[in-house]
Amino acid sequence: MLIGPQNSPATADLATRFRGVRARIAAAAAAAGRNEDCVTLLAVSKGRDAAAVQALAQLGVENFAENYLQDALPKLAALAGMELTWHYIGRLQANKTRAIAEQFAWVHSVDRPRTAERLAAQRPHFAAPLNVCVQLRLAASAERSGATAAEVPALVASVAALPRLRLRGLMCMLPEGLAPAQQRAQFGEVRALYDRLNRDGAGLDTLSMGMSGDFEAAIAAGSTM
Ligand SMILES: *Cc1c(COP(=O)(O)O)cnc(C)c1O
Repeated sequence: MLIGPQNSPATADLATRFRGVRARIAAAAAAAGRNEDCVTLLAVSKGRDAAAVQALAQLGVENFAENYLQDALPKLAALAGMELTWHYIGRLQANKTRAIAEQFAWVHSVDRPRTAERLAAQRPHFAAPLNVCVQLRLAASAERSGATAAEVPALVASVAALPRLRLRGLMCMLPEGLAPAQQRAQFGEVRALYDRLNRDGAGLDTLSMGMSGDFEAAIAAGSTM
């Protein structure tokens, strides 16, 4: 008898929860008149081990996000044989940017020009360009990370001008505990800034927003990830 991750009760539970999230994404997209294929599920694997990532990958998830480099690196190494796309969503301390530039495909949390410059200088020449989202901090947010709406246009322009980075879009997190109407209003502000940047020619294709507690509102406002 085979007893492995493929048929353990924990994996069956993971599959059920995964299908539930997919169904909620599909319903939120349909309610917004959007195609669910326009929304990429990004699985935040912080605090989960490589076996859990592998189990979710076997269900078809390709994109995984980490926000603590020390926890992420052993997982990336353990799963190097799998065709996964790794996203970094955590704070970008100066002494961590080299490993991030070398090991990840995306960074969602760029919030100052100096960090973008470091990532560009440290991205290996043999690798594809590093996909970058600029993190927006909303006025209502208690977060310390993120650029203000006033700072974002100049930061977007400096990322676009750097070699070995590929500017993709904006990332934004809302505080927890907002009512759905407040979530929609806040995500709507992010969407408005995204549209304004694109009218000015930024060429963004990624609106990275929505977590477990607010992704339906994010999808209603146009989240793509
Ligand atoms: C932990 C984390 C998430 C995931 O939050 P959930 O509520 O578990 O979906 C998303 N983004 C960032 C930056 C995080 O740190």
